[in-house]
Amino acid sequence: MNTTALVVAIDGPSGSGKSSVSREAARRLNAAYLDTGAMYRAVTLSCLNRGVDLEDKEAIAAAVAAAEITISTDPNEPQTVTADGEDVTQRIREPFVSERVSAVSTTAAARENLVARQRGIIAEHVRIVAEGRDITTVVAPDADARILLTASEEARLRRRGLQLGESQTAEQLAAQVVVRDAKDSALVNFTTAADGVITLDSSDLDFEQTVQALLTLVEQAQASRTR
Ligand code: C5P
Repeated sequence: MNTTALVVAIDGPSGSGKSSVSREAARRLNAAYLDTGAMYRAVTLSCLNRGVDLEDKEAIAAAVAAAEITISTDPNEPQTVTADGEDVTQRIREPFVSERVSAVSTTAAARENLVARQRGIIAEHVRIVAEGRDITTVVAPDADARILLTASEEARLRRRGLQLGESQTAEQLAAQVVVRDAKDSALVNFTTAADGVITLDSSDLDFEQTVQALLTLVEQAQASRTR
């Protein structure tokens, strides 16, 4: 079993498949898995539970600083997320959270708070795959492998629709994918790769092919680091 230290940073837009691909890659790499989007979702729910006005950046920052959240990191177990002592694993996936999370993630002080927590979680693990929107650039710019996972808008809408059990109208899907990405782009760039970040376009790859391509990139990055 491989126990060499490893940090893999993966960013990408919504519907790029980064959560499921990152989780599977973590399993095969014998690494932990950190879904930073779930943390943004959990603190958003905490803000809503506290009755915070999502137009008020100061109130958002204060509520995020006070939010007590936990997130599991074992890729072999179903994910569990808590906010202020409550199990929110299912609720954070509901469209009402997806539609409000950008208000929190575009609040600079809220991001700083979560980035610090994410760095703390990464530091607790010898091997970890962390995914989100700013992992390659802000959270872990020194990661051993830094990958931007992209897919065409058409592929991303299709995947997110399947993920939500085809329960959404085309407008609802667009709101959760295209509109959310546009809002999320205010403070972070996850559509073009920063220097040293490798782009993996999964539009024409199935799940297994994408995982394999990712693992190959990780191997190459590790090889070039030890050279
Ligand atoms: O990845 P997921 O769609 O669950 O992310 C939910 C939201 O969390 C994103 O729409 C974005 O607003 C925010 N996010 C972020 N930075 C990250 C991860 C997620 O701003 N690293």
